[in-house]
Amino acid sequence: MDYKYSKQSHSQALKIIPGGVNSPVRSFQGVSWEFPVYIQKGNGSFIWDIDDNQYLDLLSSWGPLILGHAHPQVVEAINNAAQLGTSFGSSTEGELKLASLIVQAVPSIEMVRLVNSGTEATMSALRLARAYTNRSKIVKFNGCYHGHSDSLLVSAGSGLMTSGVPSSAGVPTSTVENTLVAEFNDLPSVQSLFDHFPEDIAGIILEPIAGNMGVVLPENGFLEGVINIAKEHNSLVIFDEVITGFRVAFGGAQELYDVTPDITCLGKIIGGGLPVGAYGGRKEIMEYVAPSGPMYQAGTLSGNPLAVSAGIATLDLLRAEGVYTRLNKLGSCLENAILGAAHEVGVPLTINRVGSMLTIFFHPGPVNSWAAVSSTDVGKYSKFFHGMLSRGYYLPPSAFECLFISLAHEEEDLFSIRDNAARVLSSF
Ligand code: PLP
Repeated sequence: MDYKYSKQSHSQALKIIPGGVNSPVRSFQGVSWEFPVYIQKGNGSFIWDIDDNQYLDLLSSWGPLILGHAHPQVVEAINNAAQLGTSFGSSTEGELKLASLIVQAVPSIEMVRLVNSGTEATMSALRLARAYTNRSKIVKFNGCYHGHSDSLLVSAGSGLMTSGVPSSAGVPTSTVENTLVAEFNDLPSVQSLFDHFPEDIAGIILEPIAGNMGVVLPENGFLEGVINIAKEHNSLVIFDEVITGFRVAFGGAQELYDVTPDITCLGKIIGGGLPVGAYGGRKEIMEYVAPSGPMYQAGTLSGNPLAVSAGIATLDLLRAEGVYTRLNKLGSCLENAILGAAHEVGVPLTINRVGSMLTIFFHPGPVNSWAAVSSTDVGKYSKFFHGMLSRGYYLPPSAFECLFISLAHEEEDLFSIRDNAARVLSSF
């Protein structure tokens, strides 16, 4: 494949955009490529770059595009909304409709506030947990990502009893000294933080199915255990379902595993490809949010008419019978294609999958913790990424992310991956 125009665009972008990109992982640095592919358009499950190379898209814009690219009903909804005006900064019926859909769908949400991104949702959810409990500390898990607000850009400190350390320049140590870091799928690590700070922890935030260290499933009893520990200490549990909301089930991971968090964060799918986020929970907690309560949070473009219309169209289509069975079937097709190829050529790898989200780990498995994820072979993933890209498959440009399938994918396209993957893997 020729990437002449992508290369040219990137060298221009490097002069005026930091690193040439508007979000770091897009840069392809994670797979040791010098430039990102520039996309010009998408249709259904396919995308085309500006050199006219076509790819089967297995990234789906990092999750939002569960219906595929340019779904006619979503495009029509956005067009119709745009004709009427793109923003009012005043209340609209669309906001009410999207909020109603969310409240009906997500078991633990009685009231919801719309924001503009997943980052805003988690940042606001933390403030709410602190306001409600009148406590300062929060617990997050190593390997879970919740957007780029200061107090969540944290890695584990040198011991579990210590506060986290900033994982980005520019984040003051004083900001993260209230962020404690536990290990995913390790309840004793959570318990010991509460033993140490029994009355100081406002809440625990987690991805109920980790997606940002690649897919790592919660082990049996882990989510219930987290909820119980929090309850015993009058702390709140915040599920960050920015990825899993409307992805693994209509009601998200909490529906799938039948567990109830206090606050839930959403994003991605609820905006149908436009920028949206949301946080919601029990009425008594949500009533702390201004103007009904003392916790301030606002947004000029919150509940934006275009974004809300795309979200409503998307959720309306996801309500149809059989949607999640189909997504699961497509996920299983992709998993089988890659596993079949790996077995054929004798390359050990592990696939973690929930429905239509999965990660390929170049690791013999099991991959059920941050420690296991950290020992995955990143070099092999990069090689696989390059090989598959050159054969027309667009995978996430990082070993620690999810492949996302949409309802626009077809079984035969996913089966076709087997032979191509086998060819790529046979050179390992
Ligand atoms: N939470 C999770 C689980 C995410 O995966 C992301 C982004 O990928 C975020 C929060 C942040 O969302 P956004 O990028 O919309 O700010």
